[in-house]
Amino acid sequence: MTDLKTLQRDDAAHFIHPFTDSKTLAEKGTRVIERADGIYLWDIQGNKLLDGMAGLWCVNVGYGRQSIVDAVSKQMQQLPYYNSFFQCTHPPAITLAKTIADLAPAHMNTVFFTGSGSESNDTNLRMVRRYWDLKGQPNKKTIISRENAYHGSTVAGASLGGMSGMHEQGDLPIPKIVHIAQPYWYQEGADLSPEEFGLKAARSLEEKILELGEDNVAAFIAEPFQGAGGVIIPPSTYWPEIKRILAKYDVLLILDEVISGFGRTGCWFAAEYFDLQPDLISIAKGMTSGYIPMGGVIIADRVADVIKQQCGEFTHGYTYSGHPAAAAAALENINILKQEKIVEQVANEIAPYFQQRLRTLAEHPLVGEVRGIGLVAAIELVQDKATRARYNSDLGVGTWCRDFCIQHGLVMRSVGDTMIISPPLVITKTQVDELIDKALLALNDTY
Ligand code: PLP
Repeated sequence: MTDLKTLQRDDAAHFIHPFTDSKTLAEKGTRVIERADGIYLWDIQGNKLLDGMAGLWCVNVGYGRQSIVDAVSKQMQQLPYYNSFFQCTHPPAITLAKTIADLAPAHMNTVFFTGSGSESNDTNLRMVRRYWDLKGQPNKKTIISRENAYHGSTVAGASLGGMSGMHEQGDLPIPKIVHIAQPYWYQEGADLSPEEFGLKAARSLEEKILELGEDNVAAFIAEPFQGAGGVIIPPSTYWPEIKRILAKYDVLLILDEVISGFGRTGCWFAAEYFDLQPDLISIAKGMTSGYIPMGGVIIADRVADVIKQQCGEFTHGYTYSGHPAAAAAALENINILKQEKIVEQVANEIAPYFQQRLRTLAEHPLVGEVRGIGLVAAIELVQDKATRARYNSDLGVGTWCRDFCIQHGLVMRSVGDTMIISPPLVITKTQVDELIDKALLALNDTY
């Protein structure tokens, strides 16, 4: 086997990693993960790590699922590839579309397949604009998103996203995408109650629609909770008010469930958790638990009927839309979630335990807030709990904490000084205890 030093040298020489500072990587050397099982990873030096991020929020059923490997292998032997363009398709894609339609909210019965979450959001952009053209309202083109949102890395995905660092690289956003405030109560709402702040944040959508003119606004895109932005969970007043505003001005809702879909909140989709009736839902990640890349858009009947009946050819698609091997992985992944009642278990047993255990970390002197729903959470690291003042960002306290986590055998992600946790949905109570114990050790080391 190639030794670590050789791998690191070749990596630094030949591989530009996503969202990585190549210079730092070359200096420090990359961490090479070699295998995984259940909720654990092993690096090439044999160190065992509890994967508190489920890869990148995606390995919902855990690693090492032989039945997914078998389903994919069987499909690859039978039909490794065929497309779903030009009046063709294959059984796995059809079965998967029907399976997802059955799991989705009742008014959503159609799926468009993509290869990733980013492609799903590109699809959304084109589909909502086409929808309004066909409805005789061609000026309804602008999409409203939120600051600090993450909707992917393609040109449309990054434009829809609200990450200023991404906009700076590549002259984004593209035209007719605008951003409003995020509902980040802990950081921005100290002078208001969460409920007051939730209403205020939601009403910035109404202000933006009125500024642009409702006849110019196609859709509002949002994650049910902002994941990559720092697990920002809107106050209870936020979504009901957003729903009222969208209905009043006939603006479509694109709900980006790339992280939240397939069980993370204890519901199949967070639309159910937050009582939302979206027009489009972006999916990816947990759709195949990351075993093979795949994404999609679940489409409400209101939109699907227009696209199917009035569009003629919808001039959009990806070579790998509905890829048969990916569809086989998704079908077996959904089968596991159903057979093992994983979503129900998250809702009734594991998430309440996880959230309760996690709240014990709030007593730590470094922790300003712990928040979370289902199996996703954030820990805010602060210098002063009372004022919520953060450490100087140059210190990189979040990065220290992340590195100490690794030393204690835990993968947690840092977004600035916000620590993020999103473990595989199959984590047990004993493993939750292990995760909390390791996180506490890392917090102590950081403090
Ligand atoms: N949307 C959300 C909410 C995400 O979190 C992500 C990825 O993290 C994406 C879209 C992009 O998905 P992908 O990386 O599969 O393109």
